[in-house]
Amino acid sequence: MSDVKVSVGNVEIISLSDGTGENLMKNVFPDVPPAEWKRYPDFISPEGKLKSNYGCFAIRSGGKTILVDTGIGPGYPGRLLDEMREKGVDVNEIAIVAITHIHPDHVGWNITRENGQERLTFPKAKYWIPKTDWDFYREPPFVKEMVLPLEKLGALELVDGKTPISSEVTMVPTPGHTPGHMSIAISSQGQQGFILGDIAGQPFQAEETAWEMSFDNDKALASRTREAILGGLERDGSLVGGGHFAPPSFGRFVRSEGRRYWHGL
Ligand SMILES: [Zn+2]
Repeated sequence: MSDVKVSVGNVEIISLSDGTGENLMKNVFPDVPPAEWKRYPDFISPEGKLKSNYGCFAIRSGGKTILVDTGIGPGYPGRLLDEMREKGVDVNEIAIVAITHIHPDHVGWNITRENGQERLTFPKAKYWIPKTDWDFYREPPFVKEMVLPLEKLGALELVDGKTPISSEVTMVPTPGHTPGHMSIAISSQGQQGFILGDIAGQPFQAEETAWEMSFDNDKALASRTREAILGGLERDGSLVGGGHFAPPSFGRFVRSEGRRYWHGL
């Protein structure tokens, strides 16, 4: 049984799933012909169906708890708050919510609405949002519901460029999927960890970094970022969390017989 809780030096990372969904290859990777994707039967059904997890991570570092992304939200219906209870993470201990990018499946639990009132789902947290995404995404209804109100609730912290969250945890720009997309790099006691965000949404992208994903805002830049980052993670032997990979979503990128692949823990 793979573990939902891992350590990178002194840092603890807990995998949290807000639920799972299904997608079709032809919608996510429309330019990849079946003859090519049929090489990945472990991840793609014969009918071309993909599974997707809506994953978040709680990171405990230096006495502080950071929640990375808030899932797809209560309307789906997501189960993040139940997962947190089951895995011993209190909503009140979250000091920072670090949002990798402004897409609906990453900001879904930011805000809770009750009796016509809006409040922070994580009441003690500041929400760290990539500034470039904040400037870029203003109009979609989910942004008006789950992101823009953070400003008037006094919880908004805009992140521009590489920014440390704690002495061991840093937000780093990894643009392409969205203009302001960021990932989370962890370094402690000589060990390295990394939370991908949506640099890769499927394990077979370890090898197929050039396959264009329909959800990527700038497809060429996303492919370059994917190849550069995954190559670095492979060389470092970093422990990686990929929120859309099957829970508990931890593993490493490793090379064997001339190919890079995802080795889930
Ligand atoms: Zn996503």
